[in-house]
Amino acid sequence: MSAKIIDGKAFAATVREKVAGHVSRLREVHNIVPGLAVVLVGDDPASEVYVRNKGKQTLEVGMNSYEHKLPEDTPEADLLALVARLNADPAVHGILVQLPLPGHIDEEQVLNAIEPAKDVDGFHILNVGLLATGQKAMVPCTPLGCLMMLRAHHGNLSGLNAVVVGRSNIVGKPMAQLLLRDSCTVTIAHSRTKDLAAVCRGADILVAAVGRAQMIPGDWVKPGATVIDVGINRIPAPEKGEGKSRLVGDVDFDSAVQVAGAITPVPGGVGPMTIACLLANTITACCRANDLPEPSGLTA
Ligand code: NDP
Repeated sequence: MSAKIIDGKAFAATVREKVAGHVSRLREVHNIVPGLAVVLVGDDPASEVYVRNKGKQTLEVGMNSYEHKLPEDTPEADLLALVARLNADPAVHGILVQLPLPGHIDEEQVLNAIEPAKDVDGFHILNVGLLATGQKAMVPCTPLGCLMMLRAHHGNLSGLNAVVVGRSNIVGKPMAQLLLRDSCTVTIAHSRTKDLAAVCRGADILVAAVGRAQMIPGDWVKPGATVIDVGINRIPAPEKGEGKSRLVGDVDFDSAVQVAGAITPVPGGVGPMTIACLLANTITACCRANDLPEPSGLTA
């Protein structure tokens, strides 16, 4: 049996379409244009690609995009001053500071300087607390994208056993919180977990967010389970030519697809959903800022 492939690229396109519809209504009915500011410090090539894609997709859905590129040696005080200006700017509804930041800058201090209502990455300590206590929060984009795909596939997640492998603040922990909020029975596994294989085999929903290429083989997957592979790992691909590489997830797709009921591929699964959810969070932030009803289906 071969699993249903959850097509994150197609799913992300429908999310962007929904967002674009809300943006045009906001513009026509309320004369409001949502705005997303993205701040990049330094010239890390991977971060530059992310920021370019974010800006492009922001404009494509009809929002305003404000890009701020600062040199690598920007003093922390200057970055904090920029964040304060963006916090105060009524045209900016969402602020994202691209991570990682250069070593001389205190990441936590910068993230916690962002106005929580504009914190479209959901990393501000207030949003972390709101999510943990089941209150209305800005939710981190990658776990939000995973949740949307799971809800679309299962309908109701209540009572399902969910295992999240990885306990980072940006993926594993918020993912577990969201699954708990949808009444899953949640286990968080990590590098010290004993008999990870057995833990994974108990999962109706298995979310892998580790960063280790193909570490979860098919025989760790419960037959019929839904597998969400967040991992993005580059491995050598000599079959494509000398020095070439390809992207793989944390799950060994070829064996897992034989056992799972549904699975996200890498690439083309969780990845495309992350930027789509950033746009969804920006429209949510804009509606909240203007006391307008939030768009349905785009929030947790
Ligand atoms: P982190 O490195 O912050 O966290 C990795 C987690 O995996 C840690 O909690 C660690 O446990 C756990 N871990 C490490 N080794 C093992 C092991 N052998 N067995 C079980 N658990 C283990 O990574 P992130 O959460 O930031 O990212 C995870 C992956 O997701 C990466 O591949 C990243 O590139 C990808 N990613 C993808 C995104 C997307 O848009 N698709 C967005 C964000 C991330 P411990 O805490 O004990 O060390």
